[in-house]
Amino acid sequence: MSRPVSYNIKQKPMVSDISMVGEMPDGHQGEGFFATSLDKVIGLARKNSIWPLPFATSCCGIEFMATMGSHYDLARFGSERVGFSPRQCDLLMVMGTIAKKMGPVVKQVYLQMAEPRWVLAVGACASSGGIFDTYSVLQGIDQVVPVDVYVPGCPPRPEAIIDGVMRIQDLVGKESLRRRSSEKYKALLESYGIQ
Ligand code: SF4
Repeated sequence: MSRPVSYNIKQKPMVSDISMVGEMPDGHQGEGFFATSLDKVIGLARKNSIWPLPFATSCCGIEFMATMGSHYDLARFGSERVGFSPRQCDLLMVMGTIAKKMGPVVKQVYLQMAEPRWVLAVGACASSGGIFDTYSVLQGIDQVVPVDVYVPGCPPRPEAIIDGVMRIQDLVGKESLRRRSSEKYKALLESYGIQ
C-alpha cells in the first residue's frame, strides 16, 4: 500500500515580488540624495540588530527554543545572535518562574548589560508570578528591574514572543538618543536602587 504523499505545489514568489523587510525612516528625498536625522538612522540600525540574552528558568524557556527554531526563526528580525554574556547583549528576555532567591541574579545580569538595554518579560510568571502566588516566587521581575514589554500567556506561544520582540523593536526604533541621559530615566533607575 502506498503512503500518502503531499507535495508543496505552491509556486515560489519571484524575488521581485518579495517586499522589503526594513522600512525607510522619515526624511527628505530627492534625485540622488536622502536626508534624515541621526537618531532615526541609529534607531533603524538598533531595532534590526537586537542581541537577546535569554534568561530562561522553566517552561516558557521551551517556547523560546521553538521561537528560535527554523519554523518561527527569530533570526528574521535580526536577532539570531543570542548571547549569554550580558556585556554584549542589549535585550534581556526573562522567561519562566523567578524565585525570590533568583531576583538578585536577574538584577546582576541587568546591571552587567551596557546602555542602551531593554527588558522583555515573557509569560505570566516573569510578568506577575503567574499561578505561583507563594512566599518563594517573585511576583513579577519588575520588582527588581524595569520592564519595557510584557508578553502574556502561560505559556505564550512563539507568535506571542515574536510579537513582544516586535513591540520592543518599535520602542527601540523610536527611542530618542537623549532618553538615557534624561532626569526621568535616571529617576526610574534610582527607584530600583540603580545609579
Ligand atoms: S508562565 Fe506558565 S508556562 Fe511560563 S514559566 Fe510560568 S508556569 Fe511555566
